Amino acid sequence: MLGASTALGGLLAGCSPAETSVASDSPNLSEGQYSFEIAPDPVPEDKIVETVEADVVIVGAGLAGTFAAVAAAEEGASVVVLQKSSQPVTHGIGFCVFDAGVQRANGNVYDLKVWTQYFTEESYGYGNQPYIESIIYNSGRAIDMLMKYAEQKGESFGTVMATPNSTMCVFDCPEVTNGYSRVPNMVNKLVSVAEELGAEYRYSTPAVQLETEEGRVVAVIAKSGSEYIRAKASKGVILATGDIGNDPEMVAKYAPFCQGLPNTYMPQDNTGDGHKMALWIGARMFKGPFSQAIHYDPSPLPEGDAPFSGSPYLAVNALGIRYQNEDLDYPVIANLNCQQPGNLRWQIIDKTFTEYWSDFGTRMARDHGFEFTTNEEALETCLENGAILKAESLDELAANMGFEGKAKDTLFATIKRYNELCDAGVDEDFGKNPEYLVKTAVKEPPFYSIKRSAAPLALLDGVYATEKMEAYDTEMSVIPGLYVTGNVAHGMFNVDYTLDPGGISCGRALSSGYIAGKAVVNALPDYKSYYQDVAGESTAVNPGVQMVMEY
Ligand SMILES: Cc1cc2nc3c(=O)[nH]c(=O)nc-3n(C[C@H](O)[C@H](O)[C@H](O)COP(=O)(O)OP(=O)(O)OC[C@H]3O[C@@H](n4cnc5c(N)ncnc54)[C@H](O)[C@@H]3O)c2cc1C
Repeated sequence: MLGASTALGGLLAGCSPAETSVASDSPNLSEGQYSFEIAPDPVPEDKIVETVEADVVIVGAGLAGTFAAVAAAEEGASVVVLQKSSQPVTHGIGFCVFDAGVQRANGNVYDLKVWTQYFTEESYGYGNQPYIESIIYNSGRAIDMLMKYAEQKGESFGTVMATPNSTMCVFDCPEVTNGYSRVPNMVNKLVSVAEELGAEYRYSTPAVQLETEEGRVVAVIAKSGSEYIRAKASKGVILATGDIGNDPEMVAKYAPFCQGLPNTYMPQDNTGDGHKMALWIGARMFKGPFSQAIHYDPSPLPEGDAPFSGSPYLAVNALGIRYQNEDLDYPVIANLNCQQPGNLRWQIIDKTFTEYWSDFGTRMARDHGFEFTTNEEALETCLENGAILKAESLDELAANMGFEGKAKDTLFATIKRYNELCDAGVDEDFGKNPEYLVKTAVKEPPFYSIKRSAAPLALLDGVYATEKMEAYDTEMSVIPGLYVTGNVAHGMFNVDYTLDPGGISCGRALSSGYIAGKAVVNALPDYKSYYQDVAGESTAVNPGVQMVMEY
C-alpha cells in the first residue's frame, strides 16, 4: 500500500506535516519536516571497504539507467552501474518514441516541433519546454542505438516493432511471454550489451549518498552487505533510481492523492532514493503534486487481471451507487475510482456480454481507431480465477459481490434505473453515449460482475533538469557532475500523466537515459540539426492516443 507501511507515514496520512505533532516529537525533525528531508550523516570512512573508479557512475539498472550505460560505454567511457536488486528491474509493455529508424522504415514521419508544442501544452505549464524538446528529439536516436546492437546480434537478441502511423513501439524477443515482459526483456538484452562494452554491474548494492567536492558530484556511496563502497566518477553520476512510489513519506508530501492506494510494481525498490540523494546536496525538487499514472492494468487485486477495465458497462461503487458516465477516458475513470469507498468499482454486465464486447474497448481506443480484441479464452481464464464472476440471478450477482442489506437494495434500484435509461435510449443521469447505453442494459441472465481497483503504475516527477539531464540546484544553477533521468526528473508532465499518446513514460525514461549517457561524456549530438537532415519537417502526424492493450 502506498503510504501505509511505516509508523510515521501512517500517522502523517491525511494531514499535512504542519498539522501534525509527530514531526516536532522527533529529535531529528523540525516542525513540518519529513524524515527524508534531513540529510543523513556521512557514512564513516572506516565503514567504506572498497573504492571503485570510473568515468561514469550510474545509479539504477532500470530503463533509463540501462540506456545511459550503453550510451556512455559505447563512447569508450568506463562505466559502473550500482543496482539495488540482485538483477535489473523495470516495467512496461510499450514505449512512445519519435523518428526512430524503425519508424521511418514504416513510412512514419513526425513533426517534432508539433509534438514539442503538444507536450508543452499538455503539461499545463508544469513542464519545461527545452527539456521536453530534448526528450522528443532524442527518443528516436535512443532506439536507433538499440537497433544497432539488435542488427549486429541477430534474431535471438530481439527487435523493436513500430506501429504504422503511430508513436508506439514494442520490443519483441524469444523470451517475451506476455505484454508486461516486453520492456524488462529489452532492458536485459541491453544490459548484456553494456557489459560487453565494458560496463561493470554491482548488484545488491543500493546507493545511499552522493559525495561532492567544491560543489561538484564526485562519488556515490553504496551499501554492500553490512559495509559500504565508494564509486568515484570522474565525469559524472547519473541518477536512474525510478520513482518515489514506495516511500510513504515522499508519497505523503509529493503525491497525497496516491496515499493508501495499492501499487503494482514489484520488487518495491523504487523508494525515491535518487530524489533523496539529490535533495540532500541541494537539488531543486518540484514541489508537487507529482505527476501520477493511475491505471487498472495490471490489476492490484488478488484475482488478477480482467480485460474490459475501460469499457463502458454499468459500474457502481461499493455502496451500489452509479456515480459516473462509464464512457469517460481510462485515466479519468481510474481517478474517479480512487475516490470511491474502498477504491472499489464493480462493472455489471448481462448475457449480451460476448455479443457486443468487440464493439466497445476503451473510449480512447475507439476515438483513435484502435481495434479492441477480445477472446473467449480470456473470459474462461477470468471466470476460473475469479476475476470475472458469473451469476444466474440478480440475487446471486449481489451475493458474488458481497452486497447485503442497504447496499444490495441500492444495487437493485441502480440496475432498475439504468435499464429504464437504456429503454429510453437517453442517459439523463450521466449523459453516456446512447450507443453504449442500449448495449449495456442489465436484463437477462447470466449476469457478470467484475471488481476493479485502481493503482499507481508510476509517479513521474522529481528534480528539475536541463535539456542535457543535468540537475538544477535551488538557484536554478546546474549541479556539476549530476544527471537525473527517468522518473527521478521533473519537466515533462501535467499532474496527471497523459495516455495520449500512450507509452511516453517509458519513452521519456529511455530517451533521458540516452541523453544523460551521451551528455556526461560530451557526446550528445546537435539533435535538432540531425532531425532536420534526416526527416524534414513538413509532415505532421497529429498527436493522438496510441494504446496497445495486451493481456
Ligand atoms: C506494471 C507496470 C507497467 C507499466 N507499463 C508501462 C508501459 O507500457 N508504458 C509506459 O510508458 N510506462 C509503463 N509503466 C511505467 C514505466 O515502467 C516507468 O515509468 C519506467 O520504467 C521508469 O523508468 P526509470 O528508469 O525511471 O525507472 P525504473 O525502470 O523503475 O528503474 C529504476 C531502477 O533503479 C533501481 N534502484 C532504485 N533505488 C536504487 C538505489 N538506491 N541504488 C541503486 N539502484 C536503485 C531499481 O531497482 C530499478 O531497477 C509501467 C509501470 C508498471 C509498474
